[in-house]
Amino acid sequence: MRRQRKAKIVATLGPASAEQNTILALFEAGADVFRFNFSHGSHADHQQRYDIVRAVEKAVGRPIAILADLQGPKLRIGTFADGKIMLQAGQEFTLDRDATPGNNQRVCLPHAELFEVIAGGQSLLLDDGKVRLEVLACDGQSIRTRVVNSGSLSDRKGVNVPDAVLPIPALTEKDKRDLKFALELGVDWIALSFVQRPEDVLEARALIGDRASILSKLEKPAALEQLDAIVQVSDAIMVARGDLGVELPPERVPGVQKRILRICRQHGKPIVIATQMLESMITSPVPTRAEASDVASAIYDGADAVMLSAESASGAYPVPAVAMMERIITEVERDPLYQNLLDAQHESPLPTRGDAICSALRDVTRIVGAKATVTYTSSGHTSLRAARERPMAPILSITPKLATARRLALVWGVHSTISDQVHNESEMVAAACQTAFKEGFAKVGDQIAITAGVPFGQPGSTNLLRLAEIWPQ
Ligand code: PGA
Ligand code: MN
Repeated sequence: MRRQRKAKIVATLGPASAEQNTILALFEAGADVFRFNFSHGSHADHQQRYDIVRAVEKAVGRPIAILADLQGPKLRIGTFADGKIMLQAGQEFTLDRDATPGNNQRVCLPHAELFEVIAGGQSLLLDDGKVRLEVLACDGQSIRTRVVNSGSLSDRKGVNVPDAVLPIPALTEKDKRDLKFALELGVDWIALSFVQRPEDVLEARALIGDRASILSKLEKPAALEQLDAIVQVSDAIMVARGDLGVELPPERVPGVQKRILRICRQHGKPIVIATQMLESMITSPVPTRAEASDVASAIYDGADAVMLSAESASGAYPVPAVAMMERIITEVERDPLYQNLLDAQHESPLPTRGDAICSALRDVTRIVGAKATVTYTSSGHTSLRAARERPMAPILSITPKLATARRLALVWGVHSTISDQVHNESEMVAAACQTAFKEGFAKVGDQIAITAGVPFGQPGSTNLLRLAEIWPQ
């Protein structure tokens, strides 16, 4: 089984996609990565989904990545005596540390750390930005605010604090329990929510080690201040436009998305564009034209993957939503303008051996019209560096490690296969030709380009580029 496109699709699983036949249908429609959202569902739910995805993987014979998305420090207000209140623009409203249920004058904000960093002039956004409060004063015990726009508030609504770097750890106690559970399950990627600084990623890395790769979700303005450093310490990035679009005015999100894309492309880190991509398909079998255009432009910009959230987790049309993304991506990639744009945005190689080889690989495949770019990889490094080049010929990645093959399912253009460790160059050429032929990438007489690191099996040693012609197998 071979996909006829390069960009990947991430589908979130949830109640609308819990059955084995639905998950199989999602894969067949085009989902390459399944996201488990730890903001919802019990460990038993995730366990069940995990077992099903692995069963589907076995049935289809293709490596599938599982991304465990940790909730992160999502802030919430307390409760109200009547469950719900109305706020009028212009009135004062206080957030305090008193746990008694609130009213239309005050409510508890059960996060003591916040009182140290909030100051007059900042904004607080409640319920996904529907209610905006302007801070008048904060004295360590209570935050006095003025309501900017009228609206209702109910128990435990979310709070966003766009103007402050919050002195809170990136992993809450719940995240640590979920992380341990997810790693024991054997997930491939861990997504960290509300990353603010590179230290947040390093802290998670210390707990995770090499058991999973780390994807940082960018959804706080503070993260944008240290974007380059965060991208460098992460294995992949998500533009999490849901919370990002609450913390920033919506009109700033497109530019920020493009800036993040650019930096990820420079560093060769996979980038996922997420949230509201086909939002209307939660309830409708067809997307809006604006949504189709949004997905297409992420692909034209060279994103590694586009993601579905509620569309596949709880919507009425999970499989059609994946199929629609597949069609949009295929259409973009067929457009000659797409290749022109990728070429125009091509980043010059970083001064490393791996990038030097992969840059040559890109030229060589183009000059001789190679049908595949074969990468031998143990850690995934060589395939990632090849993907950074966005070569025309598909990247056929060969690794002896199942975990590596699964992680690479997120990466642009990479078709991962598993095969025994090769020991010398002639074994490498023979295995590359055989795999390219068997997987349908090349016919007898076609050329392929192969890259690897010698000695074989040593991560990060990319130093070899070889052309080969497919012989009758
Ligand atoms: P979430 O993250 O769905 O976990 O909130 C994505 C986003 O904020 O866009
Ligand atoms: Mn979010």
